[in-house]
This record gives sequence, C-alpha cells and structure tokens, in this order.
Amino acid sequence: MNLEELNKKYKTLSPKERIAELYKDFDQTKVLYTSSFGTTAALLLKMVTDINPNQLIYFLDTTYHFVETLEYKKELISKLGVNVTDVFPEDWKNEFTKKDKTWTIDQDLCCSINKVEPMDKLKEGQDVWISGLLGYQNSHRKNLDVFEEKGGLLKFYPILDMTEEEVNLFFSDNDIPKHSLEAQGFHSIGCAQCTVKGKGRSGRWSNTSKSECGLHL
Ligand code: SF4
Repeated sequence: MNLEELNKKYKTLSPKERIAELYKDFDQTKVLYTSSFGTTAALLLKMVTDINPNQLIYFLDTTYHFVETLEYKKELISKLGVNVTDVFPEDWKNEFTKKDKTWTIDQDLCCSINKVEPMDKLKEGQDVWISGLLGYQNSHRKNLDVFEEKGGLLKFYPILDMTEEEVNLFFSDNDIPKHSLEAQGFHSIGCAQCTVKGKGRSGRWSNTSKSECGLHL
C-alpha cells in the first residue's frame, strides 16, 4: 500500500483498530515506538502494549527530564508491566550542552544533540515509527494525516484525532495514574529547562517561536 492508500484505509478506523491493523500490515520487528512519559503518553503506551505486548519501548533520556517524569516512568512501568529501554545522547556531546547551557543559547542545537541524534540512530532499519501526537495540541499537529512519510520512514499517529475529553476518559476508564506535574498546571512536559506551566503545548519553549523539538518536523 502506498501512503495515500494507507491514509484512506486507516482514517475511518478507531485508534485501537489502527494499531491492530498496523501489526498486520507491517513487519512487527520494524515498528519503532518511543514514549516520552509526558502527560498523555500513558494512553498510547497502554493501547500499544495491550495489542502487542512484545513491542519494544524506548525512552529518550536527554538527562534533562524532571525528577517527576522519571518517577512517573517507574510508576507506569510497574502499573502496566512493561519493559522500557533508555536511550541516551552521546556522552561528550551531552556534557558539552551541560557546560555550555546550550538550551539558553541555541535550543535547536541542544535538541539536536540530546534528542534528534539518538532518535536518528533508533530509526535506522525501521519501517514505521508510532507516535502519540494529538491534533488538538497545536496547529502543526492538527493538520497531519494518520501516516506521514519522513526521510524514508513512515510516521504513524493512531491517536491524532482523539479529543481532549476522550483522552481524559481513557485515563479514568483504565485507572491510569497521571503525571504529578499535570495537577500543578503543566499540560505538556519535556525537559525541565524548557518547560513551564501552561495549557496545551504553550509551556514548551515559552517566549520563543519554537514549538517542536525537531523529532516531529
Ligand atoms: S528541550 Fe531544552 S534542554 Fe531538552 S534537549 Fe531541547 S533545548 Fe535541550
């Protein structure tokens, strides 16, 4: 199936149906899944691992996460019974960003070193990357299709069209704990240096024009 046919087929399916179909249409060993353990990440984590318990799960550890995110990750691993592999940036480059405080000077470079480069290594040899982007989070995301082709890899957004109400309902129906910072007003959570309280993704790289770390652009 080409991109157009995939989008036509998956558009009318529910998020769970899309994930189930993905494992029929693609080689399971070439499906990449990373979780951010942010405010909405547990939803996709539960859906994916319920449908395919063998799916490998990666976490990009930039070394700049909130302690609360790392605690939440531990809580979800225990609650959902999943295995997660941590992926780190190259030591010397990460050290450079620490000394340089690169996030205060050039956030694109900092994200490139600590997020995009490790992600690029994970992508090698994979066919599809499952991502939990939600359309209501910003205008870039709202205009996406379920599948998008980026640099020879298909990006798959099975929950793209879920509403905020449906996301909240999924958490309560499945008794999934929330990220502890959400109750304090953080709606989207990334690295501690670049995240403040705010609705939607407004708290990410606030006061700059940056709205995505580069992983999804
Ligand atoms: S979000 Fe901020 S601290 Fe994290 S990698 Fe990007 S610029 Fe660096």
